Amino acid sequence: MKLIEGKSIAETVYGECLESFEELKAAGFLPGLAVVLVGEDPASRAYVGSKEKKCQELGMHSVKIELPAETKQEDLHQVILDLNADETIHGILVQLPLPNHLDEDAVILRIDPAKDVDGLHPVNLGKLAMDDPTGFAPCTPSGCQRMLVESGIETSGANVVIVGRSLLVGKSLALLMMGKGEGGNATVTIAHSRTKDLKAVTREADILVAAIGIPHFIGPDHVKEGAVVVDVGINRIADPTAPRGSRLVGDVDFDAVKDKCEAITPVPGGVGRMTIAMLMANTIRACRLKEGL
Ligand code: NDP
Repeated sequence: MKLIEGKSIAETVYGECLESFEELKAAGFLPGLAVVLVGEDPASRAYVGSKEKKCQELGMHSVKIELPAETKQEDLHQVILDLNADETIHGILVQLPLPNHLDEDAVILRIDPAKDVDGLHPVNLGKLAMDDPTGFAPCTPSGCQRMLVESGIETSGANVVIVGRSLLVGKSLALLMMGKGEGGNATVTIAHSRTKDLKAVTREADILVAAIGIPHFIGPDHVKEGAVVVDVGINRIADPTAPRGSRLVGDVDFDAVKDKCEAITPVPGGVGRMTIAMLMANTIRACRLKEGL
């Protein structure tokens, strides 16, 4: 069994980012990322903190806009419109989920597609569906695809089963993997909560992706001998033996499944590491596209 580690692959992406960043700087441009956080959700706060830290490490211009949980829809729209107009900002990320009273789609629709480095604006999703490389693909699915490519896993002609159909992960990853680019050309099946006989479907997978949000959901009965397993899930479970009384686990029961796999991503230290790396890569690309470099 080969362990597909996110850390080393993310480092490769950061290396490319740094190279591109230095070129931009030499040409007089500084890539800038704005992250908008609404409310006090601790997990969202932690993600935003990691994004900010990575921007600083790369030397990028970074702006964090923190808004109270009771922020009004119109006020949030105005923040986005101001960032669209800000020449120093090349990428805008609104940390999801937003508090329940806010309409996420309406917010995303207001982000300038050229600054939508999270890849969730309909223009970018449309470009993804059209195999148009000028768009931005969502960061977690692009991270999954990059992990497969960097690990030398053949996707062309492979049967890929993705459990989960969210736009943020499953559906976008399906578009990427059935696309004609590198890490694509797969035969993709999407499964979800209405899928009949899920285990029979997932056992057909040469590459099985779990993006469900249920700890340890995928067990050995779901996995074909010799499959590659990509675990997108990040779930916090109680663990009295852990220093914080809890720990992070994936959607895959790693210990029960690993010996059946040709390769598998761990949690933590797998896909999660890639998401921020792809965000940085998208932001630097947004800067290059804007400046015509
Ligand atoms: P969503 O809740 O939006 O989607 C979950 C999907 O799983 C849905 O399509 C749902 O089906 C499906 N599902 C739920 N229960 C079952 C079941 N019993 N059988 C089959 N399918 C089922 O979650 P996300 O896509 O946003 O996230 C998925 C996981 O990935 C989470 O653990 C999340 O924390 C993690 N994540 C990790 C990231 C990273 O950086 N590594 C980034 C984003 C997410 P249906 O549509 O029918 O309800």
